Amino acid sequence: MNGMNAEIIDGKKIAEQIKQELIEEIAILKNKERTPGLATVLVGDNPASATYVRMKEKMCDELGILTKSFKLPAVTKESELLSIINDLKIDDEIHGILVQLPLPEHIDERNIINSIPENKDVDGLHPTSWGRMMKGEDTFLPCTPAGIQELLIRSRNSPENKHVVIVGRSQIVGLPLANILVRKLAGANATVTVCHTGTKDISQFTQQADILIAAIGRPEVVTADMVNENAVVIDVGVNRVEAPDTKRGYRLVGDVHFESVSQKVRAITPVPGGVGPMTIIMLMKNTVKSAKLTLLLR
Ligand code: NAP
Repeated sequence: MNGMNAEIIDGKKIAEQIKQELIEEIAILKNKERTPGLATVLVGDNPASATYVRMKEKMCDELGILTKSFKLPAVTKESELLSIINDLKIDDEIHGILVQLPLPEHIDERNIINSIPENKDVDGLHPTSWGRMMKGEDTFLPCTPAGIQELLIRSRNSPENKHVVIVGRSQIVGLPLANILVRKLAGANATVTVCHTGTKDISQFTQQADILIAAIGRPEVVTADMVNENAVVIDVGVNRVEAPDTKRGYRLVGDVHFESVSQKVRAITPVPGGVGPMTIIMLMKNTVKSAKLTLLLR
C-alpha cells in the first residue's frame, strides 16, 4: 500500500446509517406514546461548546427527539446548575441530561456529573456508569469512545485481536475508550496500549499500532514517521488553527497530520467528518435507549 492514498473512513456516512436505524426505533416509541427527550445544558459562551450543543439539538430535531434547552450565563452558580438538574431528574418527558463540558472554572465538574441520575446519564460520565462499563455490564457508554468503537466495527476495522494504541488518557475519550476496547466482548477484545505525556518515546508505541487513536488535543502531532503502513488511524482531535485567509479566521485540524499520514496508512478518519458525527449520533442512541428503558419499567 506504500505511496497510495488511504481509505477514508466516512464518519458522516456511518452516522447517517445509525440515524436511519434510530428513526425506525423512535417511530415505534412514539406509537407507544414515549417520545424520547433530551435536556441540553450550556453554561457560558465558549464558541466550540455552543456549536456542539447546537449540532446536538439540530440532530434531535431531525430525529423528532424532544429537547429542552438551557443556556445559562458564565456566572451561573454551581447551586443553580444543581437545582436545574434536580428538576430534570423528575421530569418525565426527559430521558437524558447532557451538560456540555467544559464548565466554567468556578463550577466543580465532578459535582455536576455526580448529580446526574444514573438512568438519565446519556453522556455516560457518572461514576456508576463507569463502574458498569468496567465490569462489562450494560450501561450508557460515553459517546465519543462508543462512537469510535462503532466506527471501527461498521467500517470493517473491528478491534478484535488487534493492537490498539491510544494517545491520550482523558476522562471523556482516552481512558474510557481503552476500557471499552480491552473488554472481553464482541467488537472489543483488543490489546490496548495507552500513551500520554508520561510516555517515553511515543513513536515506539504508535509505530506498532494496528489501530492508532489520537485523542491529544494538539494540532497535527501524529506524523507519518510515527505510523506503519497497515495502520488504521482514528483522529479524535478537533483543533482550531488560525487561518487569516478564511472567512471564519480559523480552520479545523485533527491531532494527526492528515496530509502526510493519509499517504502512508491503510485507512484514516478525516477531521471534520470522522469521529465528530459519531459522537453526536451516539448521544441520540443513548437517549433513545433511555426512553426505551422507561417503557420496560412501566
Ligand atoms: P484532554 O483532556 O486535553 O486530554 C489530552 C490527553 O492527551 C491527555 O491525556 C494528555 O496527557 C495527552 N497528551 C497531550 N499532549 C500530549 C503529547 N504531546 N504526547 C502524548 N500525550 C499527550 O483532551 P480530550 O478531551 O481527550 O480531547 C482530545 C481531542 O479530542 C481534543 O482536540 C478535543 O477537541 C477532541 N474531542 C473531539 C470529540 C469529537 O466528538 N470529535 C470529542 C471529544 C474530544 P496527560 O494525561 O499526561 O496530560
